[in-house]
Amino acid sequence: MMTPMRVLVGQGPEELKRLLSEFGEPGYRADQLLKWVYRPVPSIDDMSNLPAGLRDRLSREAVYHPCSVVTVRHSRDGTRKYLLALADGELIETVFIPETQRSTVCISSQVGCKMGCSFCATGSLGFVRGLTAGEIVDQVLQAALDVGSRPSNVVYMGMGEPLDNYDELIRSIGILNAPWGLNIGMRQITVSTCGVVPGIRKLGREGLALTLAVSLHAADDDKRSRIMPIARAYPLARLMEALHEYVANTKRRITIEYALMAGFNDGRQDAQRLTDLLKGLLCHVNLIPVNPIPGGLQQKPESSQVVRFENWLRQGGLEVSIRRERGADIEAACGQLRGQWEEI
Ligand code: SAH
Ligand code: SF4
Repeated sequence: MMTPMRVLVGQGPEELKRLLSEFGEPGYRADQLLKWVYRPVPSIDDMSNLPAGLRDRLSREAVYHPCSVVTVRHSRDGTRKYLLALADGELIETVFIPETQRSTVCISSQVGCKMGCSFCATGSLGFVRGLTAGEIVDQVLQAALDVGSRPSNVVYMGMGEPLDNYDELIRSIGILNAPWGLNIGMRQITVSTCGVVPGIRKLGREGLALTLAVSLHAADDDKRSRIMPIARAYPLARLMEALHEYVANTKRRITIEYALMAGFNDGRQDAQRLTDLLKGLLCHVNLIPVNPIPGGLQQKPESSQVVRFENWLRQGGLEVSIRRERGADIEAACGQLRGQWEEI
């Protein structure tokens, strides 16, 4: 059997040092290599200050990028969606979202997802596997290579549940944030979870200054369990307790994601319940009109109803904003990622 190829993206300074010392290279070569890996460049051949012999050996014995771009789709609003292939042939999606003052890459943490939320296209795929830290980080590098600059922000809001892939999540955050890595500020990183309570508590204890986003979508257990099976394992009482603990540990404001579904969770009483539930929690509510998925039961509310709901929450004393939809024409909006594109 062949020894597994080493993958450069995902490695830190110490690991690269070890690799190059096995190759019999002087220590400073590892620093040179590290600078190229996360710069990034398309291939090992582009690492111009490494001797040709070393580049050849690295190309034979290591893989630089664990992801390769299969297709890119461009939205009218500048959003780009990438279909990426992994070494084992699995497919994932990554979204690049340009804004005036910043740019955001929305990355996947798993192939598929176990959580089975009824409104989410990824949920209907089922679960295949968690991504490695290298595969997570490489999504940002692939987008950076395509657009020609590093993004300022990263959100773990693509396919999969990040807290169900905890160790690789933490490792990938470390690389994104490291000065030798992508040097993206902790405050520019957002991790979104459907509410995996033990993961939230563990993450809180790491004391990182990132933003935690929690997909709530309903403010009572009965309604929430109807669309999110995780709510049966972790009811709202336990989730809220974990969120208060998270704020106490990190002093960071939590983002509450609430996808508005017409006639299901967008009424006056829903707003009241949400206001009561979130009272006293340091948080900001992000309202997202749901993107209906094929075969799903949920419908987008009228925009007048979205504004009405926003006002109810505001009158209740909550901080609220409505998320502007990006990339819907290329199925790049929230919940539309499926990791599989039909032939056109
Ligand atoms: N698994 C994590 C992160 C990925 S999903 C989570 O669930 O939080 C990113 C966000 O998109 C979540 O808030 C999720 O609830 C939301 N989402 C999923 N499907 C959606 C849809 N069809 N319309 C709007 N938002 C959706
Ligand atoms: Fe998984 Fe998040 Fe989709 Fe739920 S919303 S199925 S947790 S990716």
